[in-house]
Amino acid sequence: RATLGVMGGGQLGRMFVHAAQRLGYFTAVLDPDAQSPAGLVSHHHIQTSYDDPAGLAQLAHLCQAITTEFENVPAPTLQTLAQTRPVAPGAAVVGIAQNRIAEKAHFAACADLSGVSCAPYAVLETPAQLRSVQAERADLLPGILKTARLGYDGKGQVRVKTAEELAAAWAELGGAACVLEKMLPLTAECSVLVARGWDGQVVSFAPQRNVHVDGILAVTHAYEGNMPVALADRARDAAIAIAHHLGYVGVLCVEFFVVEDGSEHGGLVVNEMAPRPHNSGHYTLDACDASQFDLQVHAMASLPLPQPRQHSPAIMLNLLGDVWFDAEGQLHEPDWQAVLSLPGTHLHLYGKADARAGRKMGHLTITGPDVTSVKTVARRAASLLNLPGQDAI
Ligand code: ATP
Ligand code: MG
Ligand code: MG
Repeated sequence: RATLGVMGGGQLGRMFVHAAQRLGYFTAVLDPDAQSPAGLVSHHHIQTSYDDPAGLAQLAHLCQAITTEFENVPAPTLQTLAQTRPVAPGAAVVGIAQNRIAEKAHFAACADLSGVSCAPYAVLETPAQLRSVQAERADLLPGILKTARLGYDGKGQVRVKTAEELAAAWAELGGAACVLEKMLPLTAECSVLVARGWDGQVVSFAPQRNVHVDGILAVTHAYEGNMPVALADRARDAAIAIAHHLGYVGVLCVEFFVVEDGSEHGGLVVNEMAPRPHNSGHYTLDACDASQFDLQVHAMASLPLPQPRQHSPAIMLNLLGDVWFDAEGQLHEPDWQAVLSLPGTHLHLYGKADARAGRKMGHLTITGPDVTSVKTVARRAASLLNLPGQDAI
């Protein structure tokens, strides 16, 4: 049996492993953590750091093709692996997605093709740039200062209203390379999952509408009518154009903002991309005939890419570690009996032993015969679990 490899052992790796195993593959996971969610379920677990040459050699020796499940795997590591094995997505595109400055430059470079641009922004890497942004880019305030690298779930971001706050925020972020982005009046957010093969074939899912609470994804709405059709079509076309322009191979998620109508951006603004399956696509496991993880397996293993079909409307609720704590701060397992007695609930737990506030422990997808019943069950489940973002269901 052939073996597929994955750099990183988090929940995305775990769901990738499950999809690969269903097709009869062995898997090898490289992750330093003995208890990593993917390592626990994989045939091989190479328990070492992401840049250990011996570990990388072992992964390449075992595997027919290799992918990555987290954004911050060192791009040079992927380059090393690519010398002997197909690696998808490749080091160059992962490198772009790892750096907001390069990412925004890429979005700008293909704006004519994609028909979308990003929020107005300025690069901030030096004290001189800080001074010139303070003096000349009042149009970016109020704004969000974001570190160019290593931010996720709203970490590495500070909201600033004035030039003084900007200076303080940049100091707070350690003077790291940053972008200052204009704060936009969002009416909604959505994301699009695209899978592209080695031969350039592309398939995609319909855009899902996402609700974030405190910078973390809380709720995903995945059904017809979740957003205006014209906007959904534009977002999907834009994500496909971005994937083609990158020469991307594998599953790519592109996040978009929807801004107030009549704005200079024509309603749709590209935010960022993730070079992998994405939290907002977890509903595809239960609501589609091929999931985002199935497509990742197909893409990297050079199997045909099926155009996925969604067979049920769905809402996904993220389960953060907060759910494991009661009002007194006591830790206990949520009431799964009550949740799973609701119709159409699909519980996914990632096998993480220690619940912490903000930590992604699992997700709950609700499917049903129609949007109304899905919403009704999702509201009940969210209320039982005391989840954030309930008013957005
Ligand atoms: P992820 O976990 O998705 O990678 P991240 O930390 O990279 O998140 P972003 O996606 O840049 O962060 O921002 C997180 C959230 O903050 C967005 O989903 C959106 O709700 C809000 N946000 C970010 N940038 C802007 C902006 N320019 N205007 C308004 N809201 C914004
Ligand atoms: Mg991000
Ligand atoms: Mg984001």
